[in-house]
Amino acid sequence: MKIIDLLKKNTLAISFEVFPPKTETSFESVRAATEEIAALRPAFMSVTYGAGGGTSQYTLDIARNIRNLYGVPTLEHLTCVSSSREMIRKKIAELKAAGIENVMALRGDIPQGMENTDRSGWDYHHAIELVRELKAAQADFCIGGACYPEIHPESLNQKEDIRHLKEKVDAGCDFLTTQMFFDNNLLYNFLYKIREAGITVPVIPGVMPITNANQVARAIRLSGSFMPQRFKCLVDRFGSSPEAMKQAGIAYATDQIIDLFANGITNVHVYSMNKPDVAAKIQSNLSDILGK
Ligand code: FAD
Repeated sequence: MKIIDLLKKNTLAISFEVFPPKTETSFESVRAATEEIAALRPAFMSVTYGAGGGTSQYTLDIARNIRNLYGVPTLEHLTCVSSSREMIRKKIAELKAAGIENVMALRGDIPQGMENTDRSGWDYHHAIELVRELKAAQADFCIGGACYPEIHPESLNQKEDIRHLKEKVDAGCDFLTTQMFFDNNLLYNFLYKIREAGITVPVIPGVMPITNANQVARAIRLSGSFMPQRFKCLVDRFGSSPEAMKQAGIAYATDQIIDLFANGITNVHVYSMNKPDVAAKIQSNLSDILGK
């Protein structure tokens, strides 16, 4: 099922994100974790893609598993920045042959140490080029794109970031998923600005449950997200107790999701990251709201 059709249903729903194993030895544990999450029957599950395509086959294998065993729609991520045109076209042909319906078109992070290198010889510089490749493949993919309520870390300002986002959507994105954020007001403000800029496709907010104190620094480094004082207090108070931190982090994410639903959002993407217990707890916290 296409994500865009799920979004049209207008019912409250959550989706979960998983990432493929980095090596063959961890394939089995990741497969088991993703199947446990799939058994919760979320609206869909997204499967991330290793930058440079190192784990690309696993992305397809994991997604196929989820779909075939549980009938849960999947969203396959694909990045382009470290790939040649030949690699990307081959990958797109593979997705088409496998009957993949939903693809998240991403640039990917610039590989470490290459931030200041001359990029003129690269085949891809931005996600918009991948969106165009996917459209050109005439496979009728439902295409997602990433967006950043707190602007992409490489952008000079939000106006520029939104201008590029509009170009990416106009190139063929059917929907957008946001980077994680910890203050819903930032999301509401962002939505107002992109609607004003003429971006009308559905936006799925992404919420990450922070379940241990070490994750906080990593999340801020990767996303550049603002940590509200309320969240910082929670980490200060419970960060040294793994169980307490996990419970508090799940409660915070649940609270964020309820507020999003209460303010008119219908679909929320949860960055559950291969943690079935966290996904299950969030879903059970929302059981009456989701009718599950
Ligand atoms: P782009 O849309 O290309 O934007 C990147 C930057 O370039 C922005 O600053 C933008 O304003 C600017 N820009 C865009 N177009 C132009 C243009 N034409 N000219 C000049 N500047 C331009 N990474 C992975 O490796 N694997 C994943 O599976 C993955 N999944 C993700 C899922 C979500 C929902 C999100 C939010 C991020 C994900 N990422 C993933 C991280 C993502 O790859 C990085 O954030 C990356 O740095 C940017 O990717 P993008 O697709 O947003 O790029």
